[in-house]
Amino acid sequence: INFGQAQFLTSAPDIRKLPADQGIEVAFAGRSNAGKSSALNALTRQRQLARTSKTPGRTQLINVFTLSDHQRLIDLPGYGFAKVPLEVKLKWQKSLGEYLQMRDCLRGLVVLMDIRHPFKDLDQELIHWAVESDIPVLAVLTKADKLKSGARKKALMDAEEAVPGFGGDVRVITFSSLNKHGLPELESTLNSWLTQ
Ligand code: GDP
Repeated sequence: INFGQAQFLTSAPDIRKLPADQGIEVAFAGRSNAGKSSALNALTRQRQLARTSKTPGRTQLINVFTLSDHQRLIDLPGYGFAKVPLEVKLKWQKSLGEYLQMRDCLRGLVVLMDIRHPFKDLDQELIHWAVESDIPVLAVLTKADKLKSGARKKALMDAEEAVPGFGGDVRVITFSSLNKHGLPELESTLNSWLTQ
């Protein structure tokens, strides 16, 4: 798959407004500031596909990008932003859960987490929901360039020790949008999900 072909299709305020539940989708999720937009931009070789500087409150939309007539990337709303009112947070969580549980065409979930603070509560909850729905998960430890090699390896090992606890098909990679570390691994996982 040529991820550079990705094109913005639409933004949806909730899962009911998404395109028809047909074809194949993979979704990207993560806490606000985890590096999701940067990773999507690195993947698609487009500097501004997913906006990297965003105002909280404007990020509640689900962004849909097409790769072909039957393959899509879904950019789910970032969660866990401290300044967002509780009511809004709960609404996001609900729609994330609904999406993971109800979307038939969803074939994989990428969960982006800052390598320095992975597996926060909501990250874990999301992974649990995906596993319950038999959706494979790729845990992407972002901003790997922020750590020295030894610390990076330790973070990866710690994460690899944690993921069997989720029970399902959950794998981990380290990633950096800055130096493209981990990009081939991300691409190969997405390729396998999108072409099965
Ligand atoms: P999002 O809220 O998850 O979409 O996160 P963004 O992609 O907007 O990134 C949040 C912040 O982290 C921005 O200041 C980015 O420049 C920075 N960032 C994202 N990815 C990386 C990375 O791989 N390395 C470094 N050093 N900074 C990153």
